[in-house]
Amino acid sequence: MKDIILDEEQLVKWRHALHAIPEIAFQEQKTAQFVEQKLRSFGVKVYPRMAGTGVIASLSCGNSGHSIALRADLDALPIVEKSHKEYCSTHQGVMHACGHDGHTTMLLGAAQYLAEHQDFDGTVYFIFQPAEENEGGGRKLVEEGLFKQYSIDEIYGMHNWPGLEVGQFSIRSGAVMAAYDVFDITIHGKGGHAAAPHNTVDPIVTAAAVINALQSISSRQLNPLDSLVVSITRVHAGDSYNVIPQTAQLSGTVRSLCHQVQDETIEQLKQIVHSSCEAYGAKAEIKYQKRYPCTINTELETQHAYQAALDIVGEDNILCDAPPSMGSEDFSFLLNESRGCYISIGNGETASLHNPEYDFNDEILTLGVKYWVRLTQMQLAKKG
Ligand SMILES: [Zn+2]
Ligand SMILES: [Zn+2]
Repeated sequence: MKDIILDEEQLVKWRHALHAIPEIAFQEQKTAQFVEQKLRSFGVKVYPRMAGTGVIASLSCGNSGHSIALRADLDALPIVEKSHKEYCSTHQGVMHACGHDGHTTMLLGAAQYLAEHQDFDGTVYFIFQPAEENEGGGRKLVEEGLFKQYSIDEIYGMHNWPGLEVGQFSIRSGAVMAAYDVFDITIHGKGGHAAAPHNTVDPIVTAAAVINALQSISSRQLNPLDSLVVSITRVHAGDSYNVIPQTAQLSGTVRSLCHQVQDETIEQLKQIVHSSCEAYGAKAEIKYQKRYPCTINTELETQHAYQAALDIVGEDNILCDAPPSMGSEDFSFLLNESRGCYISIGNGETASLHNPEYDFNDEILTLGVKYWVRLTQMQLAKKG
């Protein structure tokens, strides 16, 4: 296949322009306008926005009915940037600390190249989704009918990864990121004088038993070959030296790598909390919320992603056995609806994601664009 020649200087300019105007979940107005304006200037078809600030666009060539979707994320984080770079955030207290400015730039670069060269047969959708961080912009796109309005055969995502070398990709099938659930537990006891515990039902002692018992889900109930984290991250009870309070509050998170473990853990958690409370004469109220599902790559699309990366960086620079991350990613909502693959691209030895000193590595912009272009050319290959 033909070499992909890109204007690197222009990509860097776009990335810096986006970096300077970071916007948090569902507020990506300036960012979305930047993206739409560029896409229109390339001659790419831009559709009405979805999920508030999400930009959906497409480019068709030839007459094949086959389609693929490429996704980038638009949002930034509520972090004060620590940087003296000339393109640092101009929005006080908001920062592109996860590299979504780079992801957006790479997808724009691919749209521009594909629009200029028209060397594929089919339709490629460009999805610039809002609110990847915490707010589930991916779920909103699904709820608003992304896959009903547009005929998407397969979907691909990419995230930069600090610590993975520049010039390397990490690609694997199956689970790559964990499901993310949260819970709040209120333990109702009976308050009273701390000198007369026998007249109370102590919610603090009960909470201590609950906290310990919950650790037995991953250590005793789960198959040791599966992965699960149950963490209590907040404990609130009482406000005096000599009063046993009425209630205690616990909050926490559950991370798992398959749908079955996620569902079983919910039942086990409820049972342990209720039975521990019962043993102490207390009652529990549990609010459990499934936030993000597991991100699970399908086998065939993972091979397609691998082939595209192979053409760009060669076999020695593709890691196929990196362990999955217990972090989560809302591309999972899109992968629940469609076949597809989510990969990592090395960001080199930079500060970690969500750190105030993090920055997307401009050296990898052209690599990311080339991956998107090659993937499109291969999946929507011209016949003959
Ligand atoms: Zn992030
Ligand atoms: Zn991110």
